[in-house]
Amino acid sequence: MQKPNERLKGQTAIVTGSSSGIGAAVALALGRDGANVVVNYNSSDEGAQEIAKQINDDNLCGEAIVVKCDVSKEEDVQNMFKQTIDKFGTVDILVANAGLQKDAPLHEMTLEDWQLVIDVNLTGQFLCAREALREFMRRGMRPEVSKSLGKIIHMSSVHQIIPWAGHTNYAASKGGLVMLMESICQEYAPLKVRCNSIAPGAIKTPINKEAWESDEALEKLNKLIPYKRIGVPDDIGSATAWLASDESEYINGTTLYVDGGMTCYPGFTTNG
Ligand code: NAD
Repeated sequence: MQKPNERLKGQTAIVTGSSSGIGAAVALALGRDGANVVVNYNSSDEGAQEIAKQINDDNLCGEAIVVKCDVSKEEDVQNMFKQTIDKFGTVDILVANAGLQKDAPLHEMTLEDWQLVIDVNLTGQFLCAREALREFMRRGMRPEVSKSLGKIIHMSSVHQIIPWAGHTNYAASKGGLVMLMESICQEYAPLKVRCNSIAPGAIKTPINKEAWESDEALEKLNKLIPYKRIGVPDDIGSATAWLASDESEYINGTTLYVDGGMTCYPGFTTNG
């Protein structure tokens, strides 16, 4: 672990889907910067316990608890916030990270697979953001820990602007996040809420294993990345900790692309 700084000390963060991949790195990064962290999982209790243990074992970090919740279920989300508030008193930071893919050519996509992806990737982010806003407004400003009433960070994707054949449900869910995030900003920034998105490019996690598990796949992937390396979860963890801190206080309603330049369309380097 990197040397901690205390920029999130005294604050509490919920990180959804943090038993693996990007969410796990985000939970560790926020804990390292002093936040108390709710490590949320839906299926891997073991992964979540391991991340919470790493945070709790380091006495320079905040405290972590593990909470099971399916972010697409209203009652589950409300319970997760209740457990968090019962334990830590409030919520200052939400990182709505949980997401999944169910890929198919559109003409073969079942309604079930369309709905599942929208339910988790878009409705889940709405449910979590709504509970966070309710808690921020109930609690009021805490100038001793942050200049903002609260921070919401949506984990989006470069596919909020890059169309993705064969993954239409996923791209549509991430495209929807743009307007969710920007509308929340417009509506609640006057109360000093900050709402932003992070749009990762290709990050080495279980969700996209087939894109990096062989040398050939990696070579093909690198053609899409001007910086010529696949991202790692810590690239997103460190960006998220900064975006959650007062160091980025004036950033609101923005998507931060963390993608090694993928959205600069490297296919046009020698073409077009
Ligand atoms: P991952 O599969 O390791 O993580 C996704 C997490 O979400 C898992 O822990 C999973 O259990 C959890 N989850 C799924 N459904 C859930 C539900 N209903 N309730 C609660 N948790 C649930 O993959 P990842 O790459 O770490 O993905 C994290 C986020 O980053 C996702 O939103 C994904 O769309 C986004 N993202 C990833 C990449 C990438 O290249 N890895 C790129 C762009 C965006």
